[in-house]
Amino acid sequence: MNLSELQQLDSMYHMPTYARLPVTFVKGKGTRLWDDTGKEYLDLLSGIGVINIGHCHPKVIAAIKDQVESLMHVSNLFYTQPQLELAKKIIDISFGERCFFANSGAEANEGAIKLARRYAKLKGSDAYEIITALRSFHGRTMKTLAATGQPDKHKPFEPLPPGFKHVALNDIGALEKEVSDNTCAIMLEVIQGEGGVYPCDADYLAKVRRLCDERDILLIFDEVQTGMGRTGTMFAYQGAGVEPDVMTLAKGIGSGMPIGVLVANAKAGLSFKPGEHGSTFGGGPVVCAAALATIEVIEEEGLVENSRKLGAYIKAKFDELRAKGAPIKEVRGEGLMLAIELDEEKAKDIVMGLLSRGIVANNIGSTIIRFLPPLCITKDEVDDAFGVVESMII
Ligand code: PLP
Repeated sequence: MNLSELQQLDSMYHMPTYARLPVTFVKGKGTRLWDDTGKEYLDLLSGIGVINIGHCHPKVIAAIKDQVESLMHVSNLFYTQPQLELAKKIIDISFGERCFFANSGAEANEGAIKLARRYAKLKGSDAYEIITALRSFHGRTMKTLAATGQPDKHKPFEPLPPGFKHVALNDIGALEKEVSDNTCAIMLEVIQGEGGVYPCDADYLAKVRRLCDERDILLIFDEVQTGMGRTGTMFAYQGAGVEPDVMTLAKGIGSGMPIGVLVANAKAGLSFKPGEHGSTFGGGPVVCAAALATIEVIEEEGLVENSRKLGAYIKAKFDELRAKGAPIKEVRGEGLMLAIELDEEKAKDIVMGLLSRGIVANNIGSTIIRFLPPLCITKDEVDDAFGVVESMII
């Protein structure tokens, strides 16, 4: 089927939830994608931060094939080795001491919300409110939508479940004012992704950590987008130097297989009793084998280091361009989670122009262009792509 046939079927059979760009991808390898006409693209989006190790990595393919041939699914009423190997690996490389596996970022965040309430209850408190940041994004289930600090996304679905407050990011005074005996957790993205790539200040996070300790409430970091080397450290909290009690992961840990992970220290992570939380598919052997292989590739190929080095290189190039008078208001982000905010409302036009020149990027609203390339991108690829991006901005 060609693109116009697919577009027609899409308009007939799908709920109209996505504003799709006019391309049908049929193949991916490393940093490259190919469409159904054979045209090659450099992927600077990675399926929105999913393909951190590059498309169709042979080690992940082999892990999936091996696992599919021996066992595809068994209920969580039983043990499986891939699930426990993955949990151990995540704990080895993070602050975490306990894991729970779900199927997506939103689901991992739902788990974090339940865990925070459960933790409060075990202390004998009925506190249930969670404070999150304005402009944050935590998912599209009703609770994670309520947690998301974007009122325009709330409106079509009100009334939303109660129990969420939103405050301006990096304003400790605003946060302190909202914390009360009814608060059970504070939930933040270390760098806001969907909101437009806005980082938390390290100093702010340290103060939030202190506030949570003083009140014995949980600090939850949503690392669904920032995790797995994306920001130049394996997890963004390591770059900020502040450990949460709970962290959620998804996107880049599965290389495209659907997975969400709730990671917690022992204090928080022992709050659920058997039967209080669960999932039919969460932690299935195939996705766990893929995720374990993904982490091994990140380590073996030095992708965290590459993310840090090339991220700094790209940022410096954009800063230079800005200094030369290009209409760039701000360059934001860490590692290979970067955005430029333009002085003009041209982000969508530039993204479409890049697409026609064989480069996949993403606009957030009319002024922000976001870049989330695979962490295996090379300096030569960056230089080639930058030349094209520069010619479109100036
Ligand atoms: N949290 C953050 C920070 C995200 O960026 C996203 C997705 O973009 C989510 C949660 C939701 O993840 P999912 O789409 O896997 O439910």
